[in-house]
Amino acid sequence: MSTTNEARVVEPRTVEHWIGGASTPGGSSRRGPVWNPATGARQADVVLGSAADVDLAVATATKAFTAWQDVPLTRRAKILFAFRELVNAHVDDLARIVTAEHGKVVSDAKGEVQRGLEVVEFACGIPHLLKGEFSDQVSTGVDAYSFRQPLGAVAGITPFNFPVMVPMWMHPIAIACGNTFVLKPSERDPSASTLVAELWQRAGLPDGVFNVVHGDKEAVDAVLDHPGISAVSFVGSTPIARYVHERASRAGKRVQALGGAKNHAVVLPDADLDFAADHITAAAYGSAGQRCMAISAVVAVGEAGDVLVDKLRERAAAIQVGPGVDDAAEMGPVVTRQAQERVAAYVENGTEEGATVVLDGRGLRVAGHEDGFFVGPCLLDRVDPAMKVYQDEVFGPLLVVLRADTLDDAIGLVNASPYGNGTAVFTGSGEAARTFQRSVTVGMIGINVPIPVPMAFYSFGGWKDSLFGDRHVHGSEGVGFYTRAKAVTARWPHIEQVVDATLHFPST
Ligand code: NAD
Repeated sequence: MSTTNEARVVEPRTVEHWIGGASTPGGSSRRGPVWNPATGARQADVVLGSAADVDLAVATATKAFTAWQDVPLTRRAKILFAFRELVNAHVDDLARIVTAEHGKVVSDAKGEVQRGLEVVEFACGIPHLLKGEFSDQVSTGVDAYSFRQPLGAVAGITPFNFPVMVPMWMHPIAIACGNTFVLKPSERDPSASTLVAELWQRAGLPDGVFNVVHGDKEAVDAVLDHPGISAVSFVGSTPIARYVHERASRAGKRVQALGGAKNHAVVLPDADLDFAADHITAAAYGSAGQRCMAISAVVAVGEAGDVLVDKLRERAAAIQVGPGVDDAAEMGPVVTRQAQERVAAYVENGTEEGATVVLDGRGLRVAGHEDGFFVGPCLLDRVDPAMKVYQDEVFGPLLVVLRADTLDDAIGLVNASPYGNGTAVFTGSGEAARTFQRSVTVGMIGINVPIPVPMAFYSFGGWKDSLFGDRHVHGSEGVGFYTRAKAVTARWPHIEQVVDATLHFPST
């Protein structure tokens, strides 16, 4: 186990805003704790911004927009390529910061940076992505064309569970499109954003184009109400996503607000059950279940049930739980003491409601890290759809198993959930897979793929209570979200041509 890295980030320090290309404490005296989930120690404080701090960041971003929107596409692409190289060179540093504050194991944190990097790589193609349309001679001597322009200063409000990747779903594309950006990261793991800001600066991005304001509800509300912000991208829990969508829409902004999830894996009896159990275990307990695309509910169809539960128990019980910096650890702690208590309460509640406890990870003690926020893998079987442990998003290493008689019953369960982020089917039947993909009311579907996070050149987003707004993030929908179109109809008559202008509606 490496203790050097842990020691380095345990230094007491204050995480500050990044506005106009420099670190600043801002005007607010409020501070929040940044915990080390593996040790339970308060390792830093983060400044909690006020409306005045948000105002300064928006004013800075608005000023920077004037020049940035006119920077040629080729120059923007060069900065993006430079940023790509710098992020790539700092994957390890970013991952260590993420591990120190989020708790996930370093290999998982590197994976998160890698997936964020893929969005940067997508955004490097901005000259191609912003190509407009052109129609020659739509009427005699008349051409029609369209092109897209940036919106202005835009904002991103992001959750704790992917402190590098989720912001990267947003800012590389927004900035590539010619916008300036104000990021309000999670106050629970804020430090990675500072390094990202420094890398943007080193890549040649003009100061003021990318800004970070830390904070909680006070800063978020100031962003949502601010007349200088044109669009808000939000990722977080469903109640806050709904609130953000309503409040920012009321303030006249474009909004995409991605919410929480309860992702089902449907396992049919014809599936390779070892393969399914391997992949479901990884998808349920990786990152201690704190992924919006984690599988948190298994629907075992027919005779798949008992065999599958046995296989899941074996695999989950073998997971090595430990501090994220320990190379041997496969699963780290959850993010806070409250998150740890929340998972324990759901196990208790499920037990009281009649679920069968197959694995109980409460009470797990990691030697040398007794004050860390650890919970071992928890597995509940014979869970009923009416139980709270099924209905709520728990967001921890707790997997529930439900039983269904047929594929149709399983699809019915998936579709009755208010969430619609991701889902997976494990089967050997192409026909069953096709029925599943066509019938489920879910945005992202895996076929024998447990975590179907779309590649950066596709768009990411759920249905129902997992997304408020109509645009998904990154891919072409991301470009669409951060730009608006103009359509031009143009005529350049020869000077000697007589133009017959009438009061009729123009037609060809
Ligand atoms: P959260 O909703 O608590 O916080 C998200 C952001 O909202 C943070 O920046 C936070 O400061 C802010 N916030 C929190 N409470 C607020 C309030 N009352 N008013 C205004 N702003 C507030 O989410 P979290 O716990 O940080 O992250 C986990 C959640 O995010 C889970 O529900 C998970 O499913 C979801 N998530 C969804 C996706 C997706 O793509 N759909 C991706 C990642 C995470």
